[in-house]
Amino acid sequence: MTDDDTEKKGVAGFMSRAKEQAQSTTEKLEDGSAFEALEHAAESFAANTMSEGKLFETADAVSDYRLKDVDVTDTTCGYCAVGCRFDIYSKDGEVLGVRPNPEKAPINGISTCVKGKFSYEYVNSEDRLTQPLIKENGEFREASWDEAIKRIVAELGRIKERHGADALGVISSSRTSNEANYLMQKFARQVLGTNNIDNCNRLCHSPTVAGLSQTVGFGAASSGIDAFENADCYVMAGSNTTEAHPVLATKIKQNIKDNGADAFVFDPRKIQMAQFATQYSRVKPGYDTVWINGLTRYIIENDLHDEEFIEERTVGFEEVKEGVEKFTPEFVEEKTNVPPEELKNAAETIAKADSCVFCWTLGLTEHSHGTENVISMANLALVTGHVGTEKSGLAPFRGQNNVQGGGGDMGPTPGNFPGYQKVTTDETREKFEDAYGVDLPDKRGLTVTEQFLAADDDEIRGMFVQGENPIYSEPNLNHTDEIITGLDFLAVQDIFLTDTAKHADVVLPANASVETNGTFTSSTRHVQLVKRAVDPPGNAKPDWEITQKLAKRFGYDWGFRNPSEIMDEINELTPIYAGITHERLETEGSIPWPCWDEDHPGTPNLYLDEFNTDDGKAHMFPTDVSGPVEADMDDEEFPLALTTGRVLYQYHTGTMSNREPGIRSYTDELFAEIHPATAEKLGISDEEYVKVTSRADSITVLAQVTERPSEDVIFVPMHYFGDDGIANRLTDAEHLDPQAHVPEYKVTDVRITPVESESAQSAPNPVAADGNGQNDN
Ligand code: SF4
Repeated sequence: MTDDDTEKKGVAGFMSRAKEQAQSTTEKLEDGSAFEALEHAAESFAANTMSEGKLFETADAVSDYRLKDVDVTDTTCGYCAVGCRFDIYSKDGEVLGVRPNPEKAPINGISTCVKGKFSYEYVNSEDRLTQPLIKENGEFREASWDEAIKRIVAELGRIKERHGADALGVISSSRTSNEANYLMQKFARQVLGTNNIDNCNRLCHSPTVAGLSQTVGFGAASSGIDAFENADCYVMAGSNTTEAHPVLATKIKQNIKDNGADAFVFDPRKIQMAQFATQYSRVKPGYDTVWINGLTRYIIENDLHDEEFIEERTVGFEEVKEGVEKFTPEFVEEKTNVPPEELKNAAETIAKADSCVFCWTLGLTEHSHGTENVISMANLALVTGHVGTEKSGLAPFRGQNNVQGGGGDMGPTPGNFPGYQKVTTDETREKFEDAYGVDLPDKRGLTVTEQFLAADDDEIRGMFVQGENPIYSEPNLNHTDEIITGLDFLAVQDIFLTDTAKHADVVLPANASVETNGTFTSSTRHVQLVKRAVDPPGNAKPDWEITQKLAKRFGYDWGFRNPSEIMDEINELTPIYAGITHERLETEGSIPWPCWDEDHPGTPNLYLDEFNTDDGKAHMFPTDVSGPVEADMDDEEFPLALTTGRVLYQYHTGTMSNREPGIRSYTDELFAEIHPATAEKLGISDEEYVKVTSRADSITVLAQVTERPSEDVIFVPMHYFGDDGIANRLTDAEHLDPQAHVPEYKVTDVRITPVESESAQSAPNPVAADGNGQNDN
């Protein structure tokens, strides 16, 4: 075959795919003429009577024709927090397609991943909630908005009157907009009178917020998007970037390929990024302070640290220097399995690089000592001087689309008003009291995990849950189920009747991300507009409108006419958002906070001049040897370590992605990755059902025999929900990080056993379409 033939074959393949797409879309447009034109052009091309240029000209014309009758809305992705922007093409309430528009997409340019591009069938799912529901005699019946709101206000009001405001708990959602989350915290504090408000950020990156607040000031990424594209070196810890944050991974891989950047991957699993890395180090799960402190020690011992930076911009170096003394290469190898030569190679390259980005995700944070892990990473970045420059920085990759903004910046957390202003600081609280016209509670509220423990003790009696599914996202979910069932009153606001919602007394139908206006804030702190491409179904309403209705029935008439007006209140009360308005975002596209006033351009890179601390310096703190809680327990019965995480073709607890047939065709069933040597020892074959048992419970999953995990580790993704197959049945709810209160999702002692063939027939636990909730674990 000649090159010309090959090229023609490629073009013919393209045409064939274009024809299929044109046919499906033109059928929706009830007009076949575009398809016919394309078909005719393809036939002419095949018969050599049409040139390739003419063929593409025809394809462009057909494309323009197809688009003339559809609505185009530029918006921000509602899946992960990379913050990709694109145009959504829709008609008659249906999302037809997605195309990035580089002019309006500062983070992703022309890229998107499979979820952002193709996962919108859930929007029109028949399972969508379209009408408020009230439970009577154990059954739901449809109700009017007025009746549902009245019931919620009466029940929450009754509990408050009898037991006090702190007998109420509110869970907000990192999936919803900044404006919706701002109102949720205002509702909890001003209307209900409690700081018992939290969100799924608690279950993922709260150690990042706690660790970075103490060391550098802001609980957020310090580096901008330029750093991901141009850094000389990356340290990647506990981040399966190609699957969890695909567009960021593309930028990093491109930089490695084009510019020879170095990447050091430390992870218990040989994830895909290991193939692109300068060096992959397989670490024992749960001992991250050890290898990180080992790197810091090696760098200091060998005078590779940045003395000038340390002297001018940090405090605490001597304490850290002393604290890392015990982390010799031999000690690191003994505790983590990282060989001395790998430690040395990484330490020398990181220290000598002109710039370095330190990237992590939940593999570093979801531990009983997650905050110590983050502080150790910040220390490493600081001793090498790789913070506060344009190509270096600290880069926690956030999970849910708006966990940075909605889950943190907007203050739906027990200790913070919006902008990380403390509820315990008198001056700050007085500012909010003046704005809200009421006295506000002056003590910190309860985290999500603490709220459930308090509910177990009957101290919390009523809950309002917005866009979350704690029955699946909390650890040890059997216990969570019991606690939720025991509440006096539960109201849930969501897009589907989640398993948490099934326990509710009142359910309110809300909007999907493509059905509302507002803003999301990306992992890199870029605030970006979200726009309504289609209307919510039936009587469902935007989240912010629902909260406003509730407040009004309680006697607080906020009077917001749209999310833009809510942002105007946010920027009045929140210094880091002070200059951000919807009008500016419309013209400027995106603004990274802090943005101190209307003339401030925003801050892509933090700490170029000083850190966000009282003295402007970064504060280093020594950290010690930390390991998983269950490591100290008798492990004869549970000899393997279970670690959980994400896969590319799914999203969080599956609310949206489990309703996408195309997406599900790739990974439709819960599985456990098991090393071949372990499988052989236990008599387990690939694709066989196995039982995984922890101290909490058992689940049945399909074995996937692979060398990705080590011999003593198994991996189970956390997106799936069948009768038996929920990863969080196995995890531990009791051992929390003392500062951030995140549970130890990432290391659970387990054993695996083959399932007998007769029971294997009934063992499959295909993905249930009601796997809901938006936890970021
Ligand atoms: Fe959406 Fe994240 Fe994929 Fe970008 S990388 S398209 S933000 S899911």
